[in-house]
Amino acid sequence: MTATHCPYCALQCGITLEPADSGTTLSGRDFETNGGALCRKGFSAAKLLEHPQRLDTPMLRQADGSFAPASWDDALDLVAEKARSIRAESGADAVAMFGSGSLTNEKAYQLGKFARLALGTSRIDYNGRFCMSSAAAGSNRAFGLDRGLPFPLADLDTASMILMLGSNVADTMPPFVRHLETVRKRGGLIVVDPRRSATAKLSAEGAGWHLQPTPSTDLQLLLGLAHVVLAESLADTGYLKARTTGLEALRSSVAAWWPERTAKVTGVPAEAIRRTARALAAAARAAKNGGHPVYILTGRGIEQHANGTDTVTAAINLALLLGLPGTLAGGYGTITGQGNGQGGREHGQKCDQLPGYRKIADPAHRAHVAKAWGVDPGIIPGPGIPAVELLNALGTEGGPRMLMVHGANPVISAPDATRIFSALRRLDFLVVCDFFLSETAAEADLVLPVLQWAEEEGTMTNLEGRILRRRAAVAAPGQAKSELWILSQLADRLDAPGTFSSDAAEVFEELKRASAGGIADYSGVNWQDVDQGAAIYWPCPEGSAISTEPGTRNGTPRLFLENFAHPDGKAKIVAVHAPATLPAQQISLVTGRLLEHYQSGAQTRRVDELAAAAPEAALEIHPSTALAHQISDGQRVEVSNQRGTTIARANLSSDMRLDTVFLPFHFPGTGTANLLTDPRVDPVSSMPEFKHAQVSLNPIKGE
Ligand code: SF4
Repeated sequence: MTATHCPYCALQCGITLEPADSGTTLSGRDFETNGGALCRKGFSAAKLLEHPQRLDTPMLRQADGSFAPASWDDALDLVAEKARSIRAESGADAVAMFGSGSLTNEKAYQLGKFARLALGTSRIDYNGRFCMSSAAAGSNRAFGLDRGLPFPLADLDTASMILMLGSNVADTMPPFVRHLETVRKRGGLIVVDPRRSATAKLSAEGAGWHLQPTPSTDLQLLLGLAHVVLAESLADTGYLKARTTGLEALRSSVAAWWPERTAKVTGVPAEAIRRTARALAAAARAAKNGGHPVYILTGRGIEQHANGTDTVTAAINLALLLGLPGTLAGGYGTITGQGNGQGGREHGQKCDQLPGYRKIADPAHRAHVAKAWGVDPGIIPGPGIPAVELLNALGTEGGPRMLMVHGANPVISAPDATRIFSALRRLDFLVVCDFFLSETAAEADLVLPVLQWAEEEGTMTNLEGRILRRRAAVAAPGQAKSELWILSQLADRLDAPGTFSSDAAEVFEELKRASAGGIADYSGVNWQDVDQGAAIYWPCPEGSAISTEPGTRNGTPRLFLENFAHPDGKAKIVAVHAPATLPAQQISLVTGRLLEHYQSGAQTRRVDELAAAAPEAALEIHPSTALAHQISDGQRVEVSNQRGTTIARANLSSDMRLDTVFLPFHFPGTGTANLLTDPRVDPVSSMPEFKHAQVSLNPIKGE
């Protein structure tokens, strides 16, 4: 029996695996985030092992377009030769890498190091740019540090009130709901979502409430809530004076957002805005007088916008006005999505960061990491370019000519998918490391088969900033190899400076040294302690006392209790602004996830029971909207805009607003929702506008 964690989302539910002749059996394991429960995806994850479509040998594209098996030596020699020749002709930045928030900490770390030292390129970024970048930018701006939940998830268990904006945990990570049971029973769960999602229904069942704003008006709604708190003198003035800066600018930025005006823009009734702000303030006051804590939580629904950073900032500003962050009376948190979405953004895969959240442009940070790598800081390239810019530059004049993709499927998950396909096809050489032939791998010149979750050793960092052990329970099929091994082999062939171990524990030791003294400091975390199940939350500086006693929390489970991470120790209130008028809208498209599928669906679409339950893209549409467009339930519909057309089957639902339709983004081909999404990016985080696009609807006749 092997104790490990689910391969999918950032809840990282505890799982036990037991190999048997009839196939590996999987069961839920009692772990703090899931209490033994698993969702449908987790329960069926063993089906990914021993899957008939599993890649088990390197595959090289032939002249006729087909793939043929290749030896590892030939495959790795070819990658090294292509990288060398393209670099020699076009410079180091002509070779790029694209990583993932699903990789282990060690792989994320090694990827960043390999790009900078073995390839000498600045052109590395990852799919977490499409996931957590606005939340990270907003938290960094306000607190000087970004950790999804700056408190243990179990702190939510006693809450009296939670304002949850843009997150549908009841579908995306169902075991999370156990942490909402008490607040729900207390009538304190308030959900903000343009859809009456499964989570929004939970709030209503528990006598909480659901605010259903016009898509893309979350920022205005948050400004309206802050307006009420300030106008009615509900803010915690003592806290604001002692622990924050920037209040005066906020006052003027929300002055014009009185409830009736906010209601006009957002569609949320003025009375609901007042009621929500007053209830939050009363609960926060009670929490500070010995009552139960109050939390504001955000998810991708409000973050995946071209104004995502400002929207997160507005959510944090509201939490600061209520005096919550950095106290035991509650706080602000963002709910990380990808399995290692937290660790994936800490260890140097981002175009502007080095391990430990260090800044690549900062000379002192470069010097520290160079020392850990055993190289001269001068050879570490400067900042690169973020994901959308990087993908769009592929194959263009002066752009990368070769790309290595690890654990990502950007043709499904990146915005404006048609452009992504064109960009990949412009490349001279595309290498994809994956364990299934994803839609991106199908475009590659060379596909390298890698280990998946239950075949590899490593660590992950969950949505709380807790470091966990991923363990191998079964042998990998055929010739599949660890990415650590692949990168170390390539580093040798490329005569890279520094060392590249293929052993996860060794890489973790180096990661610790590289992160020491940084914001995300892992230097006091011992592999053996994590292995024994110690609950360790970063930052955990060297010399930290660690206990493996069940129930003991080590490192820093709760951040900011004394100081925020800015040099003055205070949280920054940053005034943000939003337009009061919106362009005339016909039908707004919002995209999101289903209970049955994870990310681009490359894994979950291959699990029979999940594919049977959700086989194709379904368009959720209000019955009245469907009637107006002559669409009947189950009919196929063309959903179109200037970027493309997605075809989906209509699913009539009164949970939708009249002006809004919903598409899941897990499906390929004509069902790809991201054919429609907008590649405009947030100026701070470079997050694309995933959650709002204008579309037209045309029923396909004869169906
Ligand atoms: Fe838990 Fe997420 Fe896995 Fe479901 S997908 S079992 S919620 S970790």
